[in-house]
Amino acid sequence: MKPKISQEAKAMAAQCRHYAMCNLDYLGTGLCSAGVEKPYISYFPQGRMDLCHALSEGLLRLTPALVDIARSCTLCGVCDLQCHFVTGMRPMKVMRELKEYVEAFLVIMAGVPSSFRYD
Ligand code: SF4
Repeated sequence: MKPKISQEAKAMAAQCRHYAMCNLDYLGTGLCSAGVEKPYISYFPQGRMDLCHALSEGLLRLTPALVDIARSCTLCGVCDLQCHFVTGMRPMKVMRELKEYVEAFLVIMAGVPSSFRYD
């Protein structure tokens, strides 16, 4: 059985306004370390919101890049502060569920013979 993204996380991910304020240190609280290290939108919270929503809709396959993106989040909480200041949302739930989804999927895949894999 595939892991699932909760309805709460899915709904929040779908509400990302794409203001991209999570890509700027406008509060002076720091920036997403993963996004700074690999400056692609997928590594910033904004991209993670889209990835989580796409996973919840069954639109994405698990790829090495997706695993790297999920694992690069340290759950530091910086994006929670930034996003809440602008939108009132607390996206940490989405960040956490994205990581948990990927890790749960990898555990499942490790026990499935390669000829039966659906990744
Ligand atoms: S919780 Fe994760 S996504 Fe959010 S700022 Fe920290 S490392 Fe980036």
